[in-house]
Amino acid sequence: MIYFDQSATTKPSETAVQAMLDALQNSYANPSSTHKAGVEIGRKVETARKDVLSALFFGKQASGRLIFTSSGTEANNLAIIGSVHSKSRPSNGTSRGTILISDSEHASVNAACASLEAEGFTVKTIRTNGGKLSMEDARNYADGSVILCSCMLANNETGALYDVKTLFDIVRAKAPQAVCHCDAVQAFMKIKFTPKTIGADMVTISGHKIGAAKGIGALYISDDVIKAKKITPIIYGGGQESALRSGTLNSPGILSFGAAAKADVQDFDKRFQDTVAVRNRLMDALSKIQGIRMNIPEGQHVPGIISVTVFSIKSETMLNYMSAHDVCVSAGSACASHGTHVSRPLAAFGLTDAEADCTIRLSFNHSNTAEEADQFASFLAEGVLSLVHIK
Ligand code: PLP
Repeated sequence: MIYFDQSATTKPSETAVQAMLDALQNSYANPSSTHKAGVEIGRKVETARKDVLSALFFGKQASGRLIFTSSGTEANNLAIIGSVHSKSRPSNGTSRGTILISDSEHASVNAACASLEAEGFTVKTIRTNGGKLSMEDARNYADGSVILCSCMLANNETGALYDVKTLFDIVRAKAPQAVCHCDAVQAFMKIKFTPKTIGADMVTISGHKIGAAKGIGALYISDDVIKAKKITPIIYGGGQESALRSGTLNSPGILSFGAAAKADVQDFDKRFQDTVAVRNRLMDALSKIQGIRMNIPEGQHVPGIISVTVFSIKSETMLNYMSAHDVCVSAGSACASHGTHVSRPLAAFGLTDAEADCTIRLSFNHSNTAEEADQFASFLAEGVLSLVHIK
């Protein structure tokens, strides 16, 4: 099998599986229990928390708090709904405050913002044409009414890296009280950044995108946000995770997250170079195929994602063809694939509906090889020649 769907999810790494097995088989007590077994797994959970936090700070002095959640989706919801509700003002018939996002966010950000819009908050979207954040839009929309700015770091469909630092600076200059959140699910352990270098108060990450188990994510929250009480929980209960996310901790998932993050950070440079090598090989091979176009962002990008438009062949047709050859790729993002709508990020990038409908996403990492890149390209070339073209 050629697995070029690493942005949808990754195979859990060997160390992550071992850590998970340890929690399942040996340290299965509830980490909140006060008996010996509970204290023991509680300590392992705290070690994993430190490992993930330190990976987020790339070994530099870490600060702030890491709250474990069930997913990147939940972390985004906690960041957005939790921060907006903490700052909410009574509705007086006019807007309760402005939320700024980009026009190519993940569904978990869009849907959380839509729910807040229904409550009376105003949501404004900043364009990302060509994979670049419009700073003109940012300057036009940033004013004293902004209570939250949430923008992803790496786009899950095009790989575009957005200059969130400049965006957050623009917002803070006009709205010093605003909270700045970054969905870094597709950037964590793919490029080097820290919450500080991107100027974020809160950062979302997800375990299964970096070789940990599915069902574990985390929200980083700065000390300032915690001190100023600019966040409230969205899940209530037993008060776990500093009362910001109640629910018995998913200790197997957490331990796998810690193990995967630790291994990734230790091996970062090599893994990055290996991913770049696969990208270069793919770009080289794909550039020789007629009838396709790579949608490469104008600015910076993560190395492991290439968006490809195969003119006149529906992505669904191409996906089935690839699947029959044991090749896994996505049409747009896996998270959006259940919907019938045209991908928002691709439309935001500048693709027409027809082009977006014929676009596939290749996502790969250090575990893929140059041979897979070559094989993939020859399958694609064959597919372009043999599949039915739409008019
Ligand atoms: N944000 C981005 C940019 C994503 O690509 C994804 C998933 O693909 C998520 C958030 C959601 O993460 P999870 O799958 O952990 O819910």
